[in-house]
Amino acid sequence: MKVTVIGAGVAGLAAACTLVERGVEVVLHEAAPAAGGRCRSYFDPALNCRIDNGNHLLLSGNHAVMGFLERIGAGDSLAGPIEPVFAFVDVKTKVHWKLRLNQGRLPWWVFSPARRVPGTRASDYLALLKLRRAGVDDLVAPLLAGAGELYRNLLEPLAIAALNTPPDVASAAPLRAVVAETLERGGAASIPRFPKLGLSESFIDPALAWLTARGAEVRLGSRVSEIVPGEKTILAVPPWVAVELLPGLVVPAEHQAILNLHFKCRIDPGETGFWGLIGGVAEWVFAKGEILSVTVSAANKYAEMDNATLAALVWADLRAAFGLAQEIPEHRVVREKRATFAATPAQLKLRPGTRTADKHIMLAGDWTDTGLPATIEGAIRSGNAAALALLEQNA
Ligand SMILES: Cc1cc2nc3c(=O)[nH]c(=O)nc-3n(C[C@H](O)[C@H](O)[C@H](O)COP(=O)(O)OP(=O)(O)OC[C@H]3O[C@@H](n4cnc5c(N)ncnc54)[C@H](O)[C@@H]3O)c2cc1C
Repeated sequence: MKVTVIGAGVAGLAAACTLVERGVEVVLHEAAPAAGGRCRSYFDPALNCRIDNGNHLLLSGNHAVMGFLERIGAGDSLAGPIEPVFAFVDVKTKVHWKLRLNQGRLPWWVFSPARRVPGTRASDYLALLKLRRAGVDDLVAPLLAGAGELYRNLLEPLAIAALNTPPDVASAAPLRAVVAETLERGGAASIPRFPKLGLSESFIDPALAWLTARGAEVRLGSRVSEIVPGEKTILAVPPWVAVELLPGLVVPAEHQAILNLHFKCRIDPGETGFWGLIGGVAEWVFAKGEILSVTVSAANKYAEMDNATLAALVWADLRAAFGLAQEIPEHRVVREKRATFAATPAQLKLRPGTRTADKHIMLAGDWTDTGLPATIEGAIRSGNAAALALLEQNA
C-alpha cells in the first residue's frame, strides 16, 4: 500500500511513522522549506541563537507524546524537574511559591499548606470536581471562578495554557479531558516536560531521520494544491488549508494567537526551569540558557499592540518577578496569529472526525475531534488515528 501524507507537522509525522512501521510506502509533502509546522526551532539572526517558535509545555501523562518520542529514538530528549512541581511568581506581590504534587493518585498534597497554592484551603480543591461534569457548553470562568485564589493562582493560568482561549468564552470540556489524563491520575502523570534543546531537536529532526532511514520519501518545499482522486491520503494540514483541498469540509474557523517574547537574558533555572507568572501580561516564562522566553496565550487582544510596547510591558513583569535590570535586553517577539483554534463551544462543535466522505482520505491535526485541546498530544493522537483508520479501511 502507498499513502500520501500532506503536512509534516507533528500530526503528519506521527501518521507517517505509524504507517511506515506497518510496512506502508509513504510520501510526505511539506509546503514549508522545513518540517514542524507550529512546533519547530530555527536560527534567529538577531539573537544569534536557535529559538523555538514558542514555548511548549508537556506533561508526563501525555502518553501519545511519550510513545512517539520513544518510537523515533528521542525518548530522552525532554527535560524538566524530576518531581511534579510547578514554580509560580506573582508579579504584583513578588511572592514566589511552588505547587508540589505527590506522586500517587491520592492527592494528599492538597492537605499540606507547604505544597498547595498559598491562601487556599484543602476544601477549595473540591472545585475541580465540578470539571468532571463539564459538558461542551459549560464555560471555564463561570464554572471555576468561584474558587477565588485557587482560580486566580492556578486554575485560570492552567486553563489559558491548555485551551489558549479566554476562560470567559472557553469550553471547560477539553480542560476536563486534560485534567482527567494528568492531575487526576496523580503526580506521576503531571510532571512538567519540555525539550532539552529545542522542539525540532526533540520532535521533528529525529522523526524525519527515522522515516527516511526506513524508506519514506520526505518532500520539503512541496505545497500540495489538490488531492489526487483515488490516492490514499492523510490530510494533516491546518484547517484553513484542509477546506481548500477538501471543499465542503466543516472545520473550526476562529483562532487565537500565542505570542512568545525571547529576551537575551540568563537567569538561574532553579528546580523547574520555568515559572507561571500570576497577575502579569504573560502566563509562563522559561529559562533556556542565554534566553528568557515568555509566553502570552489567548493573545488576540494584543493584535494591535506594537512589539516595543509589548516587550516593555512583559519586561516590567520580569523585572518585578526576578529583580532584573531596568534596560530591556535584545529580544525577539514571535507572533503566531493562528496558533490554535479557539476552544469555544461553537468552534469545538465544528471539529470533524478522522474519516471523510471519501474512504481514501483521512484527516489529522490538532483541530480534528480528539477530545483534547489543540496540543501536541492531540496532534500526535490524531495522526496515529488517521493512519490506523486508513489501514483498517484497506485491510
Ligand atoms: C506558540 C505556540 C505555543 C504552543 N504551546 C503548546 C504547548 O505548550 N503544549 C502543546 O502541547 N501544544 C502547544 N501548541 C500547539 C502545538 O504546537 C500544535 O497543537 C501542534 O504543533 C499542531 O500540529 P499539527 O501537525 O496538527 O499542525 P501544524 O503544525 O500546523 O502542521 C501542518 C503542516 O502542514 C503544512 N502545510 C500546510 N499546507 C500545506 C500544503 N498545501 N501542502 C503541504 N503541506 C502543507 C504546514 O506547513 C505545516 O507544517 C502551541 C502552538 C503554538 C503556535
